[in-house]
Amino acid sequence: MARYTAGTVVSDVDGAAHRVARRSENRRKIELGPEYDAQGLVEFACECTRGDCERSVRVPLYVYQRVLEARDQYLLQAGHHAFDSYRTIVSLGLTRIEEKA
Ligand SMILES: [Zn+2]
Repeated sequence: MARYTAGTVVSDVDGAAHRVARRSENRRKIELGPEYDAQGLVEFACECTRGDCERSVRVPLYVYQRVLEARDQYLLQAGHHAFDSYRTIVSLGLTRIEEKA
């Protein structure tokens, strides 16, 4: 199976830049009007610092809005992190919300 990977491109993006890019992508999604799945969840991009991460997590919209309102909190897939030093705020299934420690 052929799979396109933009390895050389993403390697130039440093971790924090990736996190910032994913955050603005998620904000844009809300501004444009989020799409809900059958469970009423919205799919958001994982906001970690791994330049090649393309994962997404599904949470209720209000949960992500709380993340946006909070200072230094990020929505992540389990095992992905937004900071080297972090505190886990929410751990549910494969979804994590972490804040800077
Ligand atoms: Zn990630």
